[in-house]
Amino acid sequence: MDKYEIVIGLEIHAELCTDSKLFCNCAYTFGASANDCTCPVCLGMPGTLPVINQRALEFVVRAGLAMNCEITTSSKFDRKNYFYPDLPKNYQISQHDRPLCEGGKVEFEFINDESRRVEKTVRLRRIHLEEDAGKSIHAEVTGDPTRSFMDFNRAGVPLMEIVSEPDIHSPEEAIAYCRAVKEILEYIEVSDCNMEEGSLRCEPNISLRPKGSQELGTRTEIKNMNSFQFLLAAMKYEVTRQARIIDSGGEVVQETMLFDENTGKTVAMRGKEEADDYRYFPEPDLVHVQIDDEWKEEIKQALPELPADRRKKFKDEFGILDHDAKLLTEKRHLADFFDEVAKKLADFFDEATIKTKERNSELTTCVKSCVNWIIGDLRPLLKAAKIDIQDSKVTPEHFVDLILYLEGKKDRKIEAPNAKVVLNDVFETGKMPEQIAKEKDLFAITDDSTIEAAVLKVLEEHKEGAVKDYRNGKTATLRFLVGQVMRATKGKANPQLVNQILMEKLSA
Ligand code: ADP
Ligand code: ZN
Ligand code: MG
Repeated sequence: MDKYEIVIGLEIHAELCTDSKLFCNCAYTFGASANDCTCPVCLGMPGTLPVINQRALEFVVRAGLAMNCEITTSSKFDRKNYFYPDLPKNYQISQHDRPLCEGGKVEFEFINDESRRVEKTVRLRRIHLEEDAGKSIHAEVTGDPTRSFMDFNRAGVPLMEIVSEPDIHSPEEAIAYCRAVKEILEYIEVSDCNMEEGSLRCEPNISLRPKGSQELGTRTEIKNMNSFQFLLAAMKYEVTRQARIIDSGGEVVQETMLFDENTGKTVAMRGKEEADDYRYFPEPDLVHVQIDDEWKEEIKQALPELPADRRKKFKDEFGILDHDAKLLTEKRHLADFFDEVAKKLADFFDEATIKTKERNSELTTCVKSCVNWIIGDLRPLLKAAKIDIQDSKVTPEHFVDLILYLEGKKDRKIEAPNAKVVLNDVFETGKMPEQIAKEKDLFAITDDSTIEAAVLKVLEEHKEGAVKDYRNGKTATLRFLVGQVMRATKGKANPQLVNQILMEKLSA
């Protein structure tokens, strides 16, 4: 294997989340009853005519701008002819020689096999727009091996195809590229990218060549992968398979393959077809698509800040670590949430009349704490409930309130163990932290004498056990004693202070 360089180029298909299909008014919902989302146009009835969905054009242009492509001023559609039961017209309306977007690049970071963080740029060849096909339903689903059924609900759904240059050199790199593309598409809200439902499908083209060679080797293409886990397994298997063929003096055959999830192997599906096989010709029922500068500019202005820029901003502005910045920006709405919280914290300290230097250090402390609580506590809550932040009851106002109480920047304080209780409650009820802390009596104890009394009581209770052990050199029991005091004070004491008072009393 060391003799070869792996070369991978990807075709990524993303279903656009427009309200209606590409050439008709049907709305598509995944999981709807078979053929409920159809009409004469998407069923390919003779005499019907396609009408282009403006929104789908806009979405592809938006994706093209987000990935630095050239937008084609005058683009066109073509018929791609092939016979397959899921294709009602026996041709697919696609784009052949004048796609909506050309060139472009995707920049991303990933951890390579030597555990190093590396920056990578993958050039794009093109992005074009086409219609999706329907689905055949066979015996695996119906249990009836004598016949198959057709569901045309998906036929005519707008599908964007993003084609990369063969710039990728390992299966891991390919996965990182796909994740970066998925993240961008989610940020710009052109596709829900739900892989399980097939909204995002990746097709890797893989070849090997002798190290140092510039020529491309013969490639195979693996069809329609809709899970990153299987995509990785399929690419790894295919690389090994090709290496074995070349090692034994054979030649790789250019073909289209399928990955069998049960055996973990790729199997040949059909010989590779060439453009000629599809007898492309311009779609006579659609006019050329004109995209003027004004519209392009409008779409550009409406683009949100993209994940890579977001990460850079978070790192530069707040000193957030690489790993944390990645987690915070994975989902756009969570990044928005953090942004909003940070802004509100800054406002809070601007209003407080303190010196600039103090302001900055207090803000840094709070932002840091905020990062930890979002990643360590809020994200797990969201994950467990299988929802995204925008669908939860937790708002930036809640979070700012909580962090300020936690960091002792208000008139009262909530200690960390109770802050967790408060956050869980906010998550459940959407009540403000102040109200929850009041109702559940969770505000911190402010006078030291109460804590001291609690410490003395715990020391008395454990004088034969933990206290003796501690004095005999088993200092680890201190943790146990701190826990006991925290319990006795219902989490309302400051753990550092408890620790300090305990140490004083124990060494007295
Ligand atoms: P098609 O598969 O429709 O014939 P292309 O020939 O344009 O389309 O290539 C599709 C994808 O395959 C692109 O992402 C391209 O980067 C990649 N590719 C082309 N040749 C090779 C190769 N020899 N090895 C790996 N990837 C390749
Ligand atoms: Zn329709
Ligand atoms: Mg292909």
